Amino acid sequence: MNAIVKPEAEATPAFPIPANVFAETVTEVKHYTDSLFKFRMTRPASFRFRTGEFAMIGLPNAEKPVFRAYSIASPAWDEELEFFSIKVPGGPLTEHLQKIQPGDTVLMRKKPTGTLVLDALVPGKRLYLFSTGTGIAPFAGIIRDPDTYEMFDEVILTHTTRELAELQYGRDLVDAIASDEILSEIVGQKLRYLGAATREGTPRGERITTMIENGSLFSTLGLPPLDPAVDRAMICGSMAMLKETAALLEAAGLEEGANNKPATYVVERAFVD
Ligand SMILES: Cc1cc2nc3c(=O)[nH]c(=O)nc-3n(C[C@H](O)[C@H](O)[C@H](O)COP(=O)(O)OP(=O)(O)OC[C@H]3O[C@@H](n4cnc5c(N)ncnc54)[C@H](O)[C@@H]3O)c2cc1C
Repeated sequence: MNAIVKPEAEATPAFPIPANVFAETVTEVKHYTDSLFKFRMTRPASFRFRTGEFAMIGLPNAEKPVFRAYSIASPAWDEELEFFSIKVPGGPLTEHLQKIQPGDTVLMRKKPTGTLVLDALVPGKRLYLFSTGTGIAPFAGIIRDPDTYEMFDEVILTHTTRELAELQYGRDLVDAIASDEILSEIVGQKLRYLGAATREGTPRGERITTMIENGSLFSTLGLPPLDPAVDRAMICGSMAMLKETAALLEAAGLEEGANNKPATYVVERAFVD
């Protein structure tokens, strides 16, 4: 009897993998909306990163694959790597990436980088994580990292999207922390979450910049106004959101930091317009 050979074209890279690239196996895929999904994949034993950094991701579907920046959404202690992705219609990477299944191969360049790291902030009392859309991805790692709660007494994650369904990934994260035996003990009551959809819901959510400007962010959470002596912030979103939010933080006296010059807030683009 002839053996039946199962084609494994999708799981097996069709082109040689360059030396500066890892080829990893997808372990889980979850779709949230027509435009958002998360995936998890194996983590190479030699891959080290700081929670909040990003890496370049691609697919083994061409001799010169398209690589795009992706925030690592899992914390540095996790034995797998997690990513939260947009699906851009006709997007050179995501029109293919959105079709991945467990068992498929995803490529990742070996060197991570980024500014949304605890090292780029000076110590403080309260950490604000301001995100829109897929900008929540780096904070998905930060809120699951015990170091965050060593450094700060309070962590406030804000996530603004257009539609309610786009908030689900963040809501699931916060619920998962609460039901995780170890993390819930470390996090305790320190994590606050504020999700708002600007085109749906009752009452309709406001943009984060509006909430900072009119003070509703602070009154809703029962917090004092921004204070550079104790408040620290990370921002991840569109270019416009970054600019506007950073200007409000600067007006409150916060200063932008970097890896080589820690200060009171840091920013990273969630995508290039
Ligand atoms: C530092 C950094 C970190 C990033 N992290 C992530 C991440 O964690 N998850 C993620 O999905 N993307 C992230 N991106 C964007 C990502 O690099 C790609 O742009 C995205 O995957 C789409 O790739 P593409 O080739 O399909 O389309 P592209 O040609 O890259 O993009 C086409 C257009 O789609 C829009 N777009 C791209 N990405 C997004 C997005 N995330 N949200 C809304 N609109 C977008 C832009 O208008 C862009 O011009 C990041 C970008 C940067 C610079």
